[in-house]
Amino acid sequence: MNQEKTQGQLLAEQLLYKAPIVADKDTSAVELANEFCEGYKVYLDESKTEREAVEYSVQLLTQAGYKPFVPGTCYQPGDKIYMVNRGKALIAATIGSYGLERGAHLNISHIDAPRIDLKPSPLYESADLALLKTHYYGGIRKYQWTATPLALHGVVYKADGEKVVINIGEKPGDPVFCITDLLPHLGAEQNARTLKGGITGEELNILVGGLPYEDEAVKERVKLMAMKLLNERYGITERDFARAEIEAVPAQKAADVGLDRSFVGAYGQDDRVDAYAALIAEIEVKNPAFTTICVLADKEETGSDGATGLQGMYVFHFMQQLCAAHGVDSITCFQASKCLSADVSAAFDPTFAKAFDPLNSTYAGKGLALCRYVGSAGKVGTNDAGAELMTYFTKLFDDHDVVWQTGEMGRVDLGGGGTVSKYVSKHDIDTLDVGVPVLSMHSPFEITSKLDVYMAYKAFKAFNETKE
Ligand code: MN
Ligand code: MN
Repeated sequence: MNQEKTQGQLLAEQLLYKAPIVADKDTSAVELANEFCEGYKVYLDESKTEREAVEYSVQLLTQAGYKPFVPGTCYQPGDKIYMVNRGKALIAATIGSYGLERGAHLNISHIDAPRIDLKPSPLYESADLALLKTHYYGGIRKYQWTATPLALHGVVYKADGEKVVINIGEKPGDPVFCITDLLPHLGAEQNARTLKGGITGEELNILVGGLPYEDEAVKERVKLMAMKLLNERYGITERDFARAEIEAVPAQKAADVGLDRSFVGAYGQDDRVDAYAALIAEIEVKNPAFTTICVLADKEETGSDGATGLQGMYVFHFMQQLCAAHGVDSITCFQASKCLSADVSAAFDPTFAKAFDPLNSTYAGKGLALCRYVGSAGKVGTNDAGAELMTYFTKLFDDHDVVWQTGEMGRVDLGGGGTVSKYVSKHDIDTLDVGVPVLSMHSPFEITSKLDVYMAYKAFKAFNETKE
């Protein structure tokens, strides 16, 4: 028998708010999220570098009928176009029925991820081992990257300009590589280091070989053997490393995590989780009112510099060229545009609860995270989304059953982080930070809730399809 609610209970229901978990709020989402994440796991395994993410994304776009963007073309509503920037960043767009003077709807995420890059002269021999010197990319906790299987991905251009694609450690039967660590028995001195200094940058050396070339007249026989094997496989010589981009990434494939399989565990989910969700939402949009623009950016993890980062102009040049071909003033278009700047947020971790304000944290399983500001030390370095923009997006998400939560990155003054949002809003484009919460962010095995991944997709889809 139902017990009557007290007056206080009714009032609390009316006035107070606690963000629900998605599984309670939308029970049908569990199955849909599981389905959605099957494609997502494939995307992660096929896209372990920014270049691979671009290539795989272009495959999906091409299958969906997208055509390469041709500057100067006046497109028709519903037309689908894409543009690759230097093989490392990607823009996909669907032309809207509204003119560009009413603005575009942008979903921006990034496809670079923290990793271990080879130095320009990487290969050396020491103690009869062949090793590679590295320089890490992005904010890693270095101790997490030792004693775990790594794969090598990248491109090398030979002296004559021929491009060679490197991929070792992914296919069944491939060897993998590893950064070694000291055994605990001899760890007394290393144990006294801080966690941050437990492994130093110059200690991130990758083991690649141990057999000598048979000719004893040669000085560095193990190094020569490693180079010979690379030459046999790819036709490259040691000098070609100078032109190469080779990245060591975890060899592990994406996996379901948990007895209930409620999480995805994988390398590179920051920020390929938002990238995949936004890409699928872009591909699925048909005849939108506003022109939709999905950007998969590079270089976010190192500050968005360079021609493929969001501090560069390629996205805005693309919009300017699109506007020019349609006879629309691009400034008018920018001013009327809106952007979801998607990047992962830190999921509250009960094991490290002290790092968070529980009231203002984002949680795995509570849906898409809306972060009005990022930055650090008094909101420095942030795009701070205004109340009007928050109202626009929260109404949109509520109307489309997107489960969302708000929060910020950890305890005040503990640290913080930046995203690309401020590089978009400086062009006079209203921008809000959103993203999927991640546990163990920037580690070789990051964790996301499938329900949050699905809610991110639903949010991008709602933004693409709205007429307002
Ligand atoms: Mn990120
Ligand atoms: Mn990151």
